[in-house]
Amino acid sequence: MRVLKFGGSSVGKPDRILSVIGILIDYTEKKIPYTVVFSAFSGVTDSLIKMAHAAAKGDESYIGLWSIFHDRHLQAIEELIQDSTHKALIIQDFMEMSHTLKNLLQGTYLVMEASPRTMDYVLSFGERASCMIITQAMNQRGLPAEYIDARDIIKTDKNFGAARVDYALTYNLIKKKFRSSKKIKVVTGFIASAKGGLTTTLGRGGSDYTASLLGAGLKADCIEIWTDVDGVLTADPRMVDKAFTIPRLSYIEAMEMSHFGAKVIYPPTIKPAMDLGIPIAIKNTFNPGFPGSL
Ligand code: ASP
Ligand code: MG
Repeated sequence: MRVLKFGGSSVGKPDRILSVIGILIDYTEKKIPYTVVFSAFSGVTDSLIKMAHAAAKGDESYIGLWSIFHDRHLQAIEELIQDSTHKALIIQDFMEMSHTLKNLLQGTYLVMEASPRTMDYVLSFGERASCMIITQAMNQRGLPAEYIDARDIIKTDKNFGAARVDYALTYNLIKKKFRSSKKIKVVTGFIASAKGGLTTTLGRGGSDYTASLLGAGLKADCIEIWTDVDGVLTADPRMVDKAFTIPRLSYIEAMEMSHFGAKVIYPPTIKPAMDLGIPIAIKNTFNPGFPGSL
């Protein structure tokens, strides 16, 4: 089993989602079993933060930002789902979700405050919406996919904004959940839940961490982080034109590089993989044939 994670830029537009599904179809044809984690569509988490902050300031511009969120996802459904019965169902599910978000923002506007706890709940709509839509887009293209809300399997404390994971409980829940069916699991990145079911998040960039937790819980053969660059580079390629991909590095080296600013992987990601000796591959969605970094 492999765990694949695709970030926001890999799923930012419907045609990019189709390229990702192409990569998944390839794995399926090669009979490589996998589970897949997605981030919110690119820019969505930032815009959810903006909406909530505007609402909490009593600024009505949150409504316009919400409309952009709403329309962008509906547009993605339009472009990705052809079958009309399926389309109607997913539109209905999405509308429900999107209106819950709108009500939540209206509540924030009325009470004029957005606590870290409310923020995490608001942010969860990004990954839930992207994964719900991509699951259906996969089903439409012959990949039997099942949507999984990570709040059911990843358990944390109540340190909203960057919650700490209860590894033992999480790994048990992951194992149980994955035994329940043979479908390809599509898991929401970034989000988790605390005791009592309250929504938490794992910190900005946390979808990488979600993939690593799943990898450890499932004792996966490999965790693949699919991003928009050719792996871990020796320097920022926008500043150094001779920057090149490092083909192999140790967990410790990867951790040091990410702590010192290499944006390619979220630092907490390394630990669950390192504890079990599971390799992490960094691959480029836009250059899938390139080996990347291990
Ligand atoms: N969507 C979240 C963020 O923008 C998590 C992630 O993309 O990894 O931080
Ligand atoms: Mg990231």
